[in-house]
Amino acid sequence: MKDIISKRAKVVDASGIRKVFALGAELKDPVNFSIGQPDFDVPDALKDKAIKAIKAGQNKYSQTVGDKLLQGTIREQVEEEFGWSSPAVLVTSGVSGGLLLAFMTLVDPGDEVIIPDPYFVMYKHLVNMLGGRCVFINSYPDFELPVKKIEDSITDKTKLIVLNSPCNPTGVVYSEKQMKALAEIAAKKDVVVVTDEIYEKFCYDGECASIGNYYDKALVLRGFSKPYAMTGWRLGYAAAGEPLRDVIEEMTKIQQYTFVCAPTPFQKAAIAALDYDVSNLVDAYRRKRDLVYEGLKGKFELVKPGGAFYAFAQAPGGLGTEFVERAIKNNVLIIPGKVFSEKDTHFRISFATSDEKIRQGVDILRKLA
Ligand code: PMP
Repeated sequence: MKDIISKRAKVVDASGIRKVFALGAELKDPVNFSIGQPDFDVPDALKDKAIKAIKAGQNKYSQTVGDKLLQGTIREQVEEEFGWSSPAVLVTSGVSGGLLLAFMTLVDPGDEVIIPDPYFVMYKHLVNMLGGRCVFINSYPDFELPVKKIEDSITDKTKLIVLNSPCNPTGVVYSEKQMKALAEIAAKKDVVVVTDEIYEKFCYDGECASIGNYYDKALVLRGFSKPYAMTGWRLGYAAAGEPLRDVIEEMTKIQQYTFVCAPTPFQKAAIAALDYDVSNLVDAYRRKRDLVYEGLKGKFELVKPGGAFYAFAQAPGGLGTEFVERAIKNNVLIIPGKVFSEKDTHFRISFATSDEKIRQGVDILRKLA
């Protein structure tokens, strides 16, 4: 048969993760540190709202921009948080949906997209699929926002800078000072910042700063998947102030011909989610963070995660994939750093699992160090 697969599809290489899953599939009751989703279920109060909406027949398309009440509530919250007057809001199918629409709207072939490395892998694939060029900025070994290096990398072709704080895979939270510094540079060079804040609620040591507070050309992407464990409900939103209103309008246009809208009954439940207190869950995850960090430090080189539910540790000898293969042979599933990076020196642990499994996994990893 002739080759029918597009060049666009072929630029995506998912082999790193697939290899881990293939190796892991043979294990019996492994310690699974590979999963990027919470180990709790959707709170009952929110499940009830979704069930009620389904039973009440709210099962048709919503408007493309989103359920009116949900969109309005998000707009109020964003307005209050960032001081943007009447922000533009689009309800998306997860942050993934928001990212696809944002990148389709902003990236032309040949455009450069600045991405701190390590990074959430979707950014790279989206940029490549759209014919853009990823400009990775090394943030090893402390994974702080590499402001100066970003500044030095901005060219006439730079279209946007991608931020993700708290960060997947490092768990690092960028400081207010770093955010302000980057906002100043982006403003001076007139570059849009796409800020992926899916882990904003998982913040363990004080507030997590958003660049939205300091820069009005920040496109904010947030989601419902992680804080309410609704990864299968596919809900998120994109928000922007006046200077990026056109971007949200274009994203809405593309949503109309792709996703059409986010799932309607779940949007109804999301209205209640916006006011749902997740502090108990965050407390539980802070304890998990402590178990992992206290357990691994001393044996591994790692930065204390300030947010999200990941730790990114250096593999013994700086050999990421080799260590991951050894860990998997010992019943612990972790992901090699090269899945999230141009380097293969680290490994990612997701601590979104039970405390008991964390203790068990940390013990095994310590022995392998
Ligand atoms: N951004 C980051 C940084 C993520 O880790 C994830 C999920 N792993 C997403 C976006 C996508 O999440 P969703 O589409 O479920 O909202």
